Amino acid sequence: MANVIIIGGGIGGLTTALSLLARGIDVDIYEQSDQLREVGAGIQLGSNGTRVLYALGLEQALTDVAVIPDRRELRHWSSGETWNWFELGAVSALRYGTPHLMLHRGDLHRVLSDAVRKRKSVAISLNKRCIGVEQTKSGAEVRFADGTGAPASYVIGADGIHSEIRKILFGPSNPEFTGVVAWRGLIPMQQLPEHLRRMVGTNWLGPRGFVLHYPVRRGELMNFVGCVERDDWRVESWVTEGVREELAQDYRGWHDDVRRLIGAIPIPYKWALMVRAPMERWSKGRITLLGDACHPTLPFLGQGGVMAIEDGYVLAACLHKYFENPAIALARYEDIRKERTAMVVRKAQENRAMAFEPRLADSNAYAEAIARDWLELRHKERMDWLYAYDATSVDV
Ligand SMILES: Cc1cc2nc3c(=O)[nH]c(=O)nc-3n(C[C@H](O)[C@H](O)[C@H](O)COP(=O)(O)OP(=O)(O)OC[C@H]3O[C@@H](n4cnc5c(N)ncnc54)[C@H](O)[C@@H]3O)c2cc1C
Repeated sequence: MANVIIIGGGIGGLTTALSLLARGIDVDIYEQSDQLREVGAGIQLGSNGTRVLYALGLEQALTDVAVIPDRRELRHWSSGETWNWFELGAVSALRYGTPHLMLHRGDLHRVLSDAVRKRKSVAISLNKRCIGVEQTKSGAEVRFADGTGAPASYVIGADGIHSEIRKILFGPSNPEFTGVVAWRGLIPMQQLPEHLRRMVGTNWLGPRGFVLHYPVRRGELMNFVGCVERDDWRVESWVTEGVREELAQDYRGWHDDVRRLIGAIPIPYKWALMVRAPMERWSKGRITLLGDACHPTLPFLGQGGVMAIEDGYVLAACLHKYFENPAIALARYEDIRKERTAMVVRKAQENRAMAFEPRLADSNAYAEAIARDWLELRHKERMDWLYAYDATSVDV
């Protein structure tokens, strides 16, 4: 019997497995997909995320595939006017101890899965869709769609936004559509004009939407994320393809640089953004949840994946300390993580209002709007609580 079973081999599941193995706790991961891969999209890891991954020994492997961006910039949706928003690179590495990274999700996933397999070569089983979980006398047992099952002392549902484990433990989550659709795409950097091929993250601010683009994979690709207010699309999925003309239509009237980026996206994907009510509990008996399975968040803070990373490290520390006492182990985990993740969910929702600033449509008012809400001092006030958090030294 494995010590711990993790359902889901995403960012959260793999980080948790690595954190447990590093503490000498045996673990098996079961992933429903037939291949271990992440969608073609980018992900930003703030210093609070890289702090955890560096502590797990991944500094070199991440540096080999990531971009350490110089800074973030703000640009006006139609005029293209540019503001320096905040410094990253050496400045943020010095301020917070570890850098802010921009990565292709597939690269991050490979770094994590290689590290897990290095510690336990057979830790990850593919083609294993979990359809059931129940408590037993001495632990818990999972059931898979292929008719097999497996027992463990603990089961962790790291199975993402549509979590089956959450549904079994606590019922359906009843998502509500936000009225915002997110577009994603990856652009070969060579296809962009020289002035767009920079190692900076750029937020384009507009009245009914925004665009964020940033370099990934050593600067070989540009990641594009566009969020627009729309009411006609309700599918929450990483793999639903859209049409480039439709994406271009959503950004009609925007600056030429935005339209150039859109024109260079080979396949755009679209995702309807949903919100869910916060959960009062994440655990029952010896079964618990982490990451998007228990606190999915809107992408307006770029922290959903990082929260799953922090969760995994803290959960492993709690299990290590209180393994024989599940009630204490999982209560400590929830106590430590609930407030922080709730704050991230809340702030991401607040940022939504700021990201869709109606006054940006008014050419006389936009500069004031940007000065008030976005510029550096405000940013530091808003972000220090986020990036300075150290999941590796939390007292469990
Ligand atoms: C447009 C957009 C941009 C984002 N940008 C950022 C960003 O810059 N930075 C950031 O930190 N976060 C970002 N996020 C959020 C981030 O992607 C998620 O929070 C993160 O992927 C959650 O990780 P997870 O491991 O909890 O779940 P997932 O990554 O969803 O992994 C869940 C895994 O479980 C598997 N699974 C599901 N059900 C089963 C089952 N029944 N049996 C077995 N396996 C199962 C799935 O196949 C999957 O591999 C963004 C999100 C969006 C939508």
